[in-house]
Amino acid sequence: MPIEVPAAAEIVKHVIENQRRTKAPRRKQPAPLWSRVGQLTGHGSGYSQAICREYGFNPDEIWAAQSKNHDGWTGEKCERCKGTGEVDTAHSFGACPDCGGTGELYVAALDKRAAP
Ligand SMILES: [Zn+2]
Repeated sequence: MPIEVPAAAEIVKHVIENQRRTKAPRRKQPAPLWSRVGQLTGHGSGYSQAICREYGFNPDEIWAAQSKNHDGWTGEKCERCKGTGEVDTAHSFGACPDCGGTGELYVAALDKRAAP
């Protein structure tokens, strides 16, 4: 009996869904969904955004880190200090410069408070 292969649209949806769940590599700015779809398909931004929309996805979605209040704070652990808020400086422990000692991951790209 032949293997039943899903329709092309189902395969595409599945691939994009996997991308949504893939976190950005450490120390890298998270990329919007369309950018990751573009890397997979070899298409540019316009085409990749259209692909996302065609299959019901938000092309601008950033999965790796999301800021609910659009202030850049993600509710995830700061990568530099592992959420402790402190880093080992030359002589002693000090407040982590990435998160200002909060221990929370801050992503400037997600901070929509200040107009560029
Ligand atoms: Zn930190």
